Amino acid sequence: MLRAYRTEINPSFEQRQTINQTIGTCRWMYNKFIETNQNFHKTGQSYMNGYAFSKWMNNVYLPNNPDKHWIKQSASKAVKQSIMNAHRAYQTFFKNKKGYPKFKKKSGIGSYYLIGTIHVQRHRIQLPKLGWIKLKEKSYIPTNNIKSATIVKEYDRYYVSVLVDQLPSPIFKPKQTDGIGIDLGLKEAVFTPSGVKIRSFKTNQTIVKLDKSLKRQQRKLSRKKKGSHNWYKQLLKLQRIYRRIKNIKRNIKHKGILSIVRTNPQFITIENLNIKGMMRNKRLANSFQQIGLGYIVEWLKIKCQDYGIELRQVDRFYLSSQICSDCGYIQPMPLNQRTYHCHHCGMIKDRDINASINLKQATDYTVIV
Ligand SMILES: [Zn+2]
Repeated sequence: MLRAYRTEINPSFEQRQTINQTIGTCRWMYNKFIETNQNFHKTGQSYMNGYAFSKWMNNVYLPNNPDKHWIKQSASKAVKQSIMNAHRAYQTFFKNKKGYPKFKKKSGIGSYYLIGTIHVQRHRIQLPKLGWIKLKEKSYIPTNNIKSATIVKEYDRYYVSVLVDQLPSPIFKPKQTDGIGIDLGLKEAVFTPSGVKIRSFKTNQTIVKLDKSLKRQQRKLSRKKKGSHNWYKQLLKLQRIYRRIKNIKRNIKHKGILSIVRTNPQFITIENLNIKGMMRNKRLANSFQQIGLGYIVEWLKIKCQDYGIELRQVDRFYLSSQICSDCGYIQPMPLNQRTYHCHHCGMIKDRDINASINLKQATDYTVIV
């Protein structure tokens, strides 16, 4: 089973330079692929795929353009991968007949892929062309069976994400409990009848405070001249706050999900989020992103795999919040109505509790883990 581990690294000055250069080279190569194919298209020539482009680059273009010698200095696997990324972007475009591949702009964010000799020790990682780099978090990444690595730069921070081939570790399991339905609401992110919640972040004091300071720093940024040294310094300050908020939220989610899977339920049923449909509603999309429901589902999948729990997803048209969990009656439930009061049998329940019971009782579902 392949599992990704991402952690922050602390590269030296030289290593930072190498990373930045490689990201730049990969971006150049990605854009060159698009540019070349755009020109081909204009002159009526057919599309050149990634493999052909790679050959042409090495045998024709580079020998004829000695000023591009810096390309050879970057990790060749990373550069090759960026060609294949561009190639894939074209494949998607050909398949869907829309979304013509765009040029990558220079920005504070970038990444590249590495494969080859990768070694990990408790406090450091060895990567092609970079050598040993310090890890900020010790003993987090497993030291064996590493398949590949991706270097990620986010403004002034650097991360490595490694793919590790590992056997699921034996986990102590308590006696199996009843199934659980999880209502991925927008008020409370996750809510189950047993009372496990990932609370809405609006009630988390640390996040509220950080949000305030974020707004203050944003105002400061808007008063600075765009692109100036002070503007950039201020931008980094903002990024730091963003990151802290993201980490805190992630932690809350991890803890919440762990507390659910640890009860060893027979199964967990979730809604089908139909993300695209939800995103069309701007207000809904906003709170959706705020909570990061997509991330919760992904993490839930990983943890259900680890714990051997069946994860079910109901049909996207399953009306989990409109059904009475006692008698099955269906009535409209506007988003602002927090209590389900059944017009048929008189049952009164919290909206989210009612929905999660319905999810648990659902019989039409797809097993996704
Ligand atoms: Zn009822």
